[in-house]
Amino acid sequence: KGERVRLPKWLKTNIPIGKNYHRIKQNLRDLNLHTVCEEAKCPNIGECWGGGDHGTATATIMVLGDTCTRGCRFCSVKTSRNPPPPDPNEPSNTAKAIVSWGLDYVVLTSVDRDDLPDGGAAHFAETVREIKKGKSSILVECLTPDFHGDLTGVETVARSGLDVYAHNVETVAELQWLVRDPRANYQQSLNVLKHVKQVEPDMVTKTSIMLGLGETDSQILRVLEDLRKIDVDCLTLGQYMQPTVRHIKVKEYVHPDKFKFWEEVGNKLGFAYTASGPLVRSSYKAGEFFLKNLLE
Ligand code: SF4
Ligand code: SF4
Repeated sequence: KGERVRLPKWLKTNIPIGKNYHRIKQNLRDLNLHTVCEEAKCPNIGECWGGGDHGTATATIMVLGDTCTRGCRFCSVKTSRNPPPPDPNEPSNTAKAIVSWGLDYVVLTSVDRDDLPDGGAAHFAETVREIKKGKSSILVECLTPDFHGDLTGVETVARSGLDVYAHNVETVAELQWLVRDPRANYQQSLNVLKHVKQVEPDMVTKTSIMLGLGETDSQILRVLEDLRKIDVDCLTLGQYMQPTVRHIKVKEYVHPDKFKFWEEVGNKLGFAYTASGPLVRSSYKAGEFFLKNLLE
């Protein structure tokens, strides 16, 4: 009845702010760039952006504007049927900013652009190429839309020179209709990840699911098994947080021990990397992990 549920203590964070943080923030405003870190009010921002001092700074940059053609019930990004056309300078501006920040690992993501004939795939790919041209040692992860099932879009991004291809299944098969926009679905998302391995067998693939939306253990287990069947390498599991009262409600604050349990299941099933915890987000400490492990 409109009462606010108190957050369990494991979700309250003290955000450490490193010196990189302020520099990045100012630069973003100057160049009219958007980050998921800010838009989603991610609690890890100080840690991710500030990590530059330890050589593992990460940020998640949004390309193709800040307005999505879809409206998922968990997501606070703004929505419109006809967003403004993409800024043609965005790929080079994004690359320039990223190179100047001294990031080691960058996640490029985008809103869904069902209004564009290629869903924005070429724009995505150009941004990757510009970043690599600016500094080839920066590791680039692309977290892409499903391109509405158009696998040529997936291919365009998969062949752009990136290091990690991510696409999120977001939730268990049974709750897709409730949580995601009706144009998204479980099988379509699995097909994206599967197709990446078909065209680029050595590409690292990655996906994320949110817990706390009412899913059962057996439903979660099935997702993990389905992902391993199509050779997905990396998995993250985090707590869903309701961004505003208009968004879908949290059903459960999943205990950290339960997240630990899923991490162990992930390891047993053979994922190269499973990050699971209340505050884990798709890109959380991605740089740290990849620099230390996968790409050595
Ligand atoms: Fe940004 Fe991802 Fe880090 Fe959050 S976890 S601050 S979205 S890079
Ligand atoms: Fe948010 Fe992505 Fe859904 Fe758009 S498609 S509403 S950006 S989660």
